[in-house]
This record gives sequence, C-alpha cells and structure tokens, in this order.
Amino acid sequence: MGEKGSGGRDRGSQETGELPAGEVRAALHRAADLVADYLEGVERYPVVPRIRPGDVRAQLPAAPPERGEPLDALLADYARLIEPNVTHWNHPGFLAYFATTGSAPGVLGELLAAGINAQAMLWRTGPAPTELEEHVCDWLRRLLGLPEPFRGHINDTASMSSLLAIAAARHRALPDVREQGLTGHAVPRLVVYASEHAHSSIDKATITLGLGTSGVRRVPCDATYAMRPVALAEAIADDRRAGRRPIAVVATVGTTSSTAVDPVAAAGALARREGLWLHVDAAYAGPAAVCPELRHHFAGWEDADSIVLNPHKWMFTPMDCSVLLLRDPDALRAAFSLVPEYLRTAERGVTNLNEYGPQLGRRFRALKLWFVIRAYGAEGLRTRLRAHCALARAFAEWVDREPGFELVAPVPFSVVCFRAVPHLPPAEQDAFNERLMAEVNAAGPVFLSHTKLDGRLVLRLAIGNIRTERRHLETCWTLLREAAARLGAQTP
Ligand code: PLP
Repeated sequence: MGEKGSGGRDRGSQETGELPAGEVRAALHRAADLVADYLEGVERYPVVPRIRPGDVRAQLPAAPPERGEPLDALLADYARLIEPNVTHWNHPGFLAYFATTGSAPGVLGELLAAGINAQAMLWRTGPAPTELEEHVCDWLRRLLGLPEPFRGHINDTASMSSLLAIAAARHRALPDVREQGLTGHAVPRLVVYASEHAHSSIDKATITLGLGTSGVRRVPCDATYAMRPVALAEAIADDRRAGRRPIAVVATVGTTSSTAVDPVAAAGALARREGLWLHVDAAYAGPAAVCPELRHHFAGWEDADSIVLNPHKWMFTPMDCSVLLLRDPDALRAAFSLVPEYLRTAERGVTNLNEYGPQLGRRFRALKLWFVIRAYGAEGLRTRLRAHCALARAFAEWVDREPGFELVAPVPFSVVCFRAVPHLPPAEQDAFNERLMAEVNAAGPVFLSHTKLDGRLVLRLAIGNIRTERRHLETCWTLLREAAARLGAQTP
C-alpha cells in the first residue's frame, strides 16, 4: 500500500496509473504561480523569441523517457525551454496580425476546463457544457444587439465556422449532394461570392467542400477596400448566364488586411433577391458591435443566415473560441446530422452539438467565454474595445502628421495600415518598408506585421491585447521613426 497524498487517496500509481494526489496538487500550485508570474512579467521578453529554426528541437532528447519523470522536472523544462521560446501573443507589444489575449478570467476557464476534461459531443456526455455553450452564445447575441432567431455554438476557429456556414448553404441549395456527393450526377458548378479582400479561409472552405478555389468569385472592391455591390450583382448575373449555380455571399466586416467593411445590407439585399445564403465574416471585428456607436458598421447583419466572430481575437478569450451564429441552426444540422446507434440517447428536446459539424468530440470552450463576459461585464468589454479604437486613432494621427509616413486605409476599428514613403523610386519603397518592419521587430518590445494593398507593401499595427497601453504604441512609434531615419540615411 502506498503513502497517502494530501487528498487522502492511495499513492497507488501502480494500481490506478495516476500520480499521487499530493504531488498533483503541489504541481498545480506551481503551475498557477508560473502562469501568474508569466502574465505579470511578460514584458521582460522580446515579443518574438530570438531563436533560429531547429533550436528548440536540438535541446530535446531524441527518444521519450523510459521511466516517468517528476512533475517538477517537467515544469522546470517548461520554464527553461518553452516559455522563453514562444512568440508572446500575451505581450502588450504584440501588434501583429490580429491579437489573441490570454486574459485572467479566460486562463482560469481554460484551466478548469482542462481539469474536468469534458467531452460534450452529446447533451448526455456534457450536460453543463452543452447548456452553458448555448446560453453563453445567447448572451453574446444579446451583447451584439442581434435578434432572437440567431442561435450559436462554438467552434475552434473562424475557418471552421465559415466552412460550416458554406456547407449549410450548399445543403440548402442542393440537398442531394449530402448523399450523392459532387460527382456522379449532373451538379452545376457552385459559386460563393466574397470580396477580393475576404480571408483565405473562404477558399479553404470551398476546397474542402468540393467547390474548388474556382468556386469562390472574388468581387472587386472600392477605394476603401470594401466589396462593390454593383460588381457583386454583375458577377452573379454572369455566373447564372454561364450555367453556374450561385449559392452564397460572404460579406466581411473587418477584413484581414485593412479591416474594411463590406456593405452588408446591400450584399444581403442581393442575396435575398437571388435566393442565396448570406454569411457575415466578422471574425475580428464582431465584438465591436458590443459598442452601440460602432454598430453602424454591422448594419444589415441582422438579416444574415450566419455570422462568425472570434472571441479569441478581440474579446480577450484565449485560443480557441469562434462563435457561429445561425438564423436557422436546423439548416446546418440537416447537412451534418448522423446518429448511429452508439450515439443514440433517451433525452428529447436537447441539443447534441456533434450534429452541427463533422467532428464528433468537442472540448469545453464555453467556460472561458462565460468567465470573460462575467469578469468584465458588458460595460468592461465596451470600455476596453473603445480604448483600443481610441489608441488606434491616436496612432493614426501620429502617422498622418509625420512627413515621410502615410496612412493607407481608413481606421474603422483598432488596426492602422500605414507605410513609410521615403524619397525613393516606387519600386524600392516596398523593400524599404520591409526592412523597416524587420528592424522594428528585431528591437524586441513590439511586433508588427504587413500586408499588400493596391499591390504595395503596407505595415499593419493591430491593437487587440487587453494589456496594450499608450506607452506601447509610443515605443513602437519611436522605433519606427528612428529606424526610418537610420535606413533613410543609408540609402543613396
Ligand atoms: N476571417 C477573417 C476576417 C480573419 O481575419 C481571419 C484570421 O485572421 C479568419 C477569418 C480566420 O480565423 P481563424 O484563425 O479563427 O480561422
């Protein structure tokens, strides 16, 4: 008989396979300290670790250990090898891509969800997780000012949420495809419409769903990088004339490159006239609708068939958490529901979440979102989102006033697209901006990313981390101006 841990259970690792309760508890306390220390002190690290490809693997033993190691050794190696060598998305100087924040309530939710290890494929296998997921999605719907028919569930990413929306659109247009597939009988070419600035996840969805990348018609944009409704109408008419079958329109609120806003109401009116599914990709910007003064950007989304937004982007929820809101969830269920005998349960009138997509198993993501919404409240969320928009406006003003820099897109939310405009031939300006970004990022305290707009390389400053303050933007701006001056002096 082994010794007793503090939980009063047998050491008994030979019998149960699990470690002694006392050792587990001590390790969890140490892990909690590691996390708290990390969050408090993350600024001691450069945002991007200064390592080369292969450096991490070179420090790992080639083969797994034959004998189990103490949890203390695991935690020590985590602190030595992993923590310093991640790109620190939790760093307030992380201004690249779109942020994701491991906020305190979000991290707590993740920790507790790991502890209970829920698997809510059926209501029966996860009653509280299933009901909390439905409920917290309804809270989100209310926060966003969306009407009641919308019901939501949580996926890993917006890529999956958009794929599901397009799958539902395909099923509504051609229910036979579920059984027959896209081959073997005369299915017309199916087409999805999205702006030229829509995210690549839409193409990945059509690849996965058998429409191919040629099944996405990229609709031209106006000078603000928003979809042109006239061009959308023309594209639909062209395809119908050519015998193709339009099935869905994707309107983006907050495009990846410049956070442009497609005219959702106009796209929706066209979609309705043409009998097409309207999907709104608000993966990044969606949370902004919590602020009434920003809701005008979303006008018309209340008439969509589906909407995706990612609390793991701009709602302070740790990876991963993407909410898909559906006007008629049964449309998605019809596309995917399969209930083999081993999944049949007695409960009636419950939601079995596995029926809303291809995966069976699902992890418990609602807990962290519940914690985030409760810890900050609607008011706290609004305050933080507004602060980020105000910071972005301030940065945009600095850029606008500075000779040698220019803004290249409107700033509707918390992202600023800009570039240096040195006295160089246009062909050399992209290389200059690329060097500028590399120098600023190499300094350590901030991390920017880039995109292309109108064929020109553009720098992006994206605010979304809950810990980002004005001083981080000031550091970034100083680094940019100093590096631009240095590089300018070096160029002939
Ligand atoms: N849609 C938009 C507008 C995005 O900007 C992104 C990612 O940045 C995505 C979809 C894909 O997000 P995810 O990583 O959750 O799949």
